[in-house]
Amino acid sequence: MAVASSPCPYRARHIYDEIVIWSRPRAAKVRGIVAPWIMRILVVEDEPRILAFVTRRLEAEGFLVDAAADGAAALATAARHRPDLVVLDLLLPRIDGLTVLKRLSQDHPTLPVVIVSARADLPAKLRGFELGAWDYLGKPFLLDELVARIRTHLRVAVENGALLEAGAMTLDLARHRVQLDSAVIDLSEREFQLLHHLVRHAGEVVGRDRLLAEVWGYNFDPGTNLVDVCIRRLRKKLGPQVPIETIRHAGYRLAS
Ligand code: CA
Repeated sequence: MAVASSPCPYRARHIYDEIVIWSRPRAAKVRGIVAPWIMRILVVEDEPRILAFVTRRLEAEGFLVDAAADGAAALATAARHRPDLVVLDLLLPRIDGLTVLKRLSQDHPTLPVVIVSARADLPAKLRGFELGAWDYLGKPFLLDELVARIRTHLRVAVENGALLEAGAMTLDLARHRVQLDSAVIDLSEREFQLLHHLVRHAGEVVGRDRLLAEVWGYNFDPGTNLVDVCIRRLRKKLGPQVPIETIRHAGYRLAS
């Protein structure tokens, strides 16, 4: 159900009761996940054919997909893009999948990891779960099943993190509400998404390009000051208690 009068090509889709997904128009098939941001999945797979078909399918489902063809690239991409979920092969060049899993579990303890591996014997599976995997699928696998499992894990992950606290501020991710001390701050959907992104990356400098891609869904610079205008509105509504800093020629940072 698209909002027909919206001037923006990126629309809120209301699917089922209380489920709101901000997605690109091509993400019409996304359903069942309560999230105020475009969900990002990292697919780690060294077999190009499998990588290509998993990526294509997840993109068609409306996810933002990063691909990594070896373990070292997987860790670097996870640190840089903070995915919402990782699909992880185990037999990988450079750093093997179990080592990647171990490091991901240490560095990002709430990050759901779904292992997809040709090694699907019970000891391998048990080892995977022991090291922090949320799920384990043997190869060959059905894409429909992988997608269904991903949706389920993301739903749980989002519900677990439904309240996000940052200083005196609390973000209610299910209701898209922000409370500062005891006052509820009235934000538009876009302002909420932008603030949520800054909170998730508190202490980091986040560039305009990245905000345009991850909050607006633009993979190009529309040549406007969209981001700056939205930041100004946020600052005005939130006041000095929420210090959003401008980093010259780099972007913005929410001081942590
Ligand atoms: Ca492999």
